[in-house]
Amino acid sequence: MADPQKTHDLADDLAQRLHRGDRAALARAITLVESRRADHRAQARRLVQAVLPATGGAIRVGITGVPGAGKSTLIDALGHRLIGAGHRVAVLAVDPSSSRSGGSILGDKTRMATLAADPAAFIRPSPAGRTLGGIAAHTREAMLLCEAAGFDIVLVETVGVGQSETAVADLVDIFLVLMLAGTGDELQGIKKGVIEIADVIAVNKADGENRLRAEAAAADLRMALHLLGQSGERAVPVTTVSGATGDGLDGAWTLVTGRRDAWLADGNLEARRRRQQVKWLHVMLEERVLARLSEAPVRQRLAVLEARVAAGELAPLLAADEIAAMIGA
Ligand code: GDP
Repeated sequence: MADPQKTHDLADDLAQRLHRGDRAALARAITLVESRRADHRAQARRLVQAVLPATGGAIRVGITGVPGAGKSTLIDALGHRLIGAGHRVAVLAVDPSSSRSGGSILGDKTRMATLAADPAAFIRPSPAGRTLGGIAAHTREAMLLCEAAGFDIVLVETVGVGQSETAVADLVDIFLVLMLAGTGDELQGIKKGVIEIADVIAVNKADGENRLRAEAAAADLRMALHLLGQSGERAVPVTTVSGATGDGLDGAWTLVTGRRDAWLADGNLEARRRRQQVKWLHVMLEERVLARLSEAPVRQRLAVLEARVAAGELAPLLAADEIAAMIGA
């Protein structure tokens, strides 16, 4: 059993060091909230509770794009610019591939190497092997810890086009979607529901010979959004950028902060954050139920019932009732 006094001291100590902006303490604190050990969970809870009053002040931006869309190049360049303007920038990378394959697209240490070396930056990949909801819940806690450590911009990077974006959309104030010209990305994006989460779209790699194609793709996207019924101020702005040359980066960032500022002024940002809080509660509850379902006796009994359901001997509803009773649900 953990010594309760020691538990208290660790959470307290980390909270104090976080408030001083200590990056080593931040890395340690995030490891603590990612841990599954029961004593760590207790410490993590106390820590998050302790820092909560110092959170909420950051600009929280989700950034997504398919692998190769140029996310890390762009975040590296953008991060340096923001730091140059006096900000402290945290990058949290949510990598759904790691939970499936054990490998990681985003966890690669060579990504954003120059930004990672800057004392005003903090870069952290998400842990592998969790459910999407779990990843998002832990990313959320990591984000709060970054804010407590004085990072006033948190970029949450996620790969691909799919479920993980929806989970990340529940964490951030605004979502920047990176697209590429000439890959069918423009139309695919619309098909796959990116539009539902996109608040700003940037066609990336708009440089050299690709610049004109990128601009044409941006025009196509604007037209497609228009056909989908978006118009006026509510329309998702579409721009072109190049993470490699830096062209368009300031403009894209102005679009992001401009939209966010408008929502701050009209109350939409606060409403969104309130909805996210409630969503977070639900995710935490689901995680707990899932954890109960994966406990050994429940799992074993479930395997037996699954076989009986498959054989047509038992109605799924009755099997569900029995398992629900086992976990007290
Ligand atoms: P990620 O997988 O989305 O993080 O993409 P990366 O940032 O690793 O970039 C993928 C590839 O595209 C690399 O070979 C980069 O050098 C290249 N790349 C990234 N950004 C740009 C850009 O703005 N312009 C051009 N021409 N190439 C880029």
